[in-house]
Amino acid sequence: MPDKTLLCKDCNQEFVFSEGEQAFYKEKGFENEPQRCPDCRRAKKAQRRNSGGYNSAPRNNYSAGGRW
Ligand SMILES: [Zn+2]
Repeated sequence: MPDKTLLCKDCNQEFVFSEGEQAFYKEKGFENEPQRCPDCRRAKKAQRRNSGGYNSAPRNNYSAGGRW
C-alpha cells in the first residue's frame, strides 16, 4: 500500500497519509480516510480538551466512587 497524498479539509494543505497510518486506520476499522492534516487534527483535539465536555465525566465518576 503506497503512501497517499490527501488534501486537508481545514487548511487545504496536502499531507501524506502514510502506509503505516493506512494500516493503523484499517486495524481500527476506520473506513474513511483522514479529512485533516496532522496539525489540524492535533488542533482539533486540543480544542476539544480545552472545552472540557466529556473529559470531566470520568473524573466525577472517580470521586463519586468513594462510596464503595
Ligand atoms: Zn490542515
